[in-house]
Amino acid sequence: MSEQQAIKQVVIVGGGTAGWISAALLVKMLGKSLNILLVESEEIGIVGVGEATIPPVIHFNEGLGLDEATFLKETQGSIKLGIQFENWGQQGDSYMHAFGNFGKDYPFCTFHHFWLKAKQQGLTQDFWDYSFNYQAAKHNKFSKIDTIPQVNLPGLVYAYHFDASLYAKFLRKHCEAMGVKRIEGKITHVATSESNGYVSALTLADGQVISGDLFIDCSGMHGLLIEQTLNTGYEDWSHWLPCDRAWAVPTESVKPIVPYTRSIAHQAGWQWRIPLQHRTGNGLVFSSKYWSEEAAKAHLLANLDAPALAEPRLIKFRTGRRIKQWHRNVVSIGLSSGFLEPLESTSIHLIQSGIIRLVKNFPHQGIKSEEVAEFNRQSQLEFEHIRDFIILHYKLTQRTDSKFWRDCQQMDVPERLLQKIALFKATGKVYREQDELFSPIAWIQVMLGQGLQPEDYHPIVNALTDTQLSELLDYLKTIFSATATKLPLHQQFLQDFCKAES
Ligand code: FAD
Repeated sequence: MSEQQAIKQVVIVGGGTAGWISAALLVKMLGKSLNILLVESEEIGIVGVGEATIPPVIHFNEGLGLDEATFLKETQGSIKLGIQFENWGQQGDSYMHAFGNFGKDYPFCTFHHFWLKAKQQGLTQDFWDYSFNYQAAKHNKFSKIDTIPQVNLPGLVYAYHFDASLYAKFLRKHCEAMGVKRIEGKITHVATSESNGYVSALTLADGQVISGDLFIDCSGMHGLLIEQTLNTGYEDWSHWLPCDRAWAVPTESVKPIVPYTRSIAHQAGWQWRIPLQHRTGNGLVFSSKYWSEEAAKAHLLANLDAPALAEPRLIKFRTGRRIKQWHRNVVSIGLSSGFLEPLESTSIHLIQSGIIRLVKNFPHQGIKSEEVAEFNRQSQLEFEHIRDFIILHYKLTQRTDSKFWRDCQQMDVPERLLQKIALFKATGKVYREQDELFSPIAWIQVMLGQGLQPEDYHPIVNALTDTQLSELLDYLKTIFSATATKLPLHQQFLQDFCKAES
């Protein structure tokens, strides 16, 4: 393979979530002009976690042409309206990062400024009274509702929870039907070209040799091609995000199946709870510097709300990103491209945006260094923005009950994040940087939820008298709460729309 050679054969290494998502989009968008092979090893297996998502997954699945009900049925899926964060600000606290908007925006001024003034004047209390998603989640309600009837307000914004192993199987079936060729086998040798260092062929344990023009490395954290072969380098972020281990354990299902993920902070990490139709996914993400593996495992087992279905499994990770996600003729997607802990369920999204980026910059007439550089620039920015949002949760804790939390409060954080926190504190303003994943309302929820109260609000709010402001807020609160109450139960929605086999 030379730089100018047209790309005809694409080889995907790995059949986890990253491998099959990449195959699905490539075959859908470029399948007519490419030969797509996927190599995976059942003996090695997949990481098998990664069960909570964020709303862009809906559009991605639509883009692939997947039928939503079939998808949810086959993956034992449920609906996610947000993430409930417990014990993050202080022990006993709880707030939700709810998807969707809050209240109703005014020209040039977002709703939270109205709420901030009303709160200062004692006219209102809870910000989450103005989130339709939160009101539905709190009452365990869900329906596919685009707008609230009779008023010009948006409906529910949702994502999915699903079983990671079933998801990979579902996508595999879909991809094979579309023409992706799967090869079973363990790669034992990777050959590179002497002239340009490009990967030229893979050798499997049975002696089979697979050559390709472009290789997509979805081989998981060790990065078989991008790191083990091309030595691309890794930028370590563990000084900002000190968790480096997770115990994962499934438990029996608990009814009702709630339409949100829970993230419960403990002494040196946090516990996830992801409700599916047939079971609940649980895990504890923690820092081994502050908590021994055995003590963390015992703590997780003592804090489950149903009997465990298997022995807890330990997963080790190093937070950071691959310095070049695209290097020579290898593009890394998924865990091979970097890792950010699953606090805001962003890894599957990063897989989807990574493969979309590759499709947009597909090097059909040969690999151009300008395109590779742009791909890497965009990938880096995307990772860094998400990283900062995750650090925010740790930095804003007010917990002082353990060294872990005290250290998080005192740690240095990236300059861009410091500025964002300072601006919100002084003015109540948050701006979204170009192509940043999380919108201002996501940042506002975490900052308010963890006790950062702005000192000011925007003066546009003063266009309303106190009476008008109070009436507006009462009106919105009543609409969100009354509409949410009338929705069907989430459990009923699952039963009617996508009941999975038990
Ligand atoms: P893997 O699943 O590890 O797949 C690697 C593939 O490469 C396998 O098929 C393997 O067989 C193959 N392979 C490797 N080496 C070879 C070889 N030599 N020969 C042949 N084949 C090989 N993400 C979210 O979006 N939401 C979440 O809630 C979430 N929770 C998580 C919780 C934890 C504790 C962790 C660690 C991650 C979580 N993630 C989450 C991330 C998510 O799990 C991953 O992004 C996702 O599973 C993708 O993994 P992958 O396909 O890159 O790697």
